[in-house]
Amino acid sequence: MKTKHDQAHDASKGASVKKLAALWPVAKGSLTLTRSPCTRKNCRECASGRKHPKLIFTFREGGRLRGMYVRPAHEGPVRKAIANGRELERLMAGAGRDLVLSPRQDTEP
Ligand SMILES: [Zn+2]
Repeated sequence: MKTKHDQAHDASKGASVKKLAALWPVAKGSLTLTRSPCTRKNCRECASGRKHPKLIFTFREGGRLRGMYVRPAHEGPVRKAIANGRELERLMAGAGRDLVLSPRQDTEP
């Protein structure tokens, strides 16, 4: 049978899960704008040295730094996912703090 404490814990867990679900999609990394040349002959932008803007998503995978090209249409969603990822990390830090401070640690083995 569930105690009042368990019910309160379940309610707070439910609220946390809702908060986490609202943060999807998430990403961890950063966006960098670079400029690179294209393959067209006699390109004015390349000849002028301005070249072409290119957005790169940089992230770590298995300890290695990776960079991937981001299509312009994906910039908004990727920026939002990175912001969500930062918020998720903040929530995780708070959840760890709350777990350690939880009164349950006094009553359970
Ligand atoms: Zn060009």
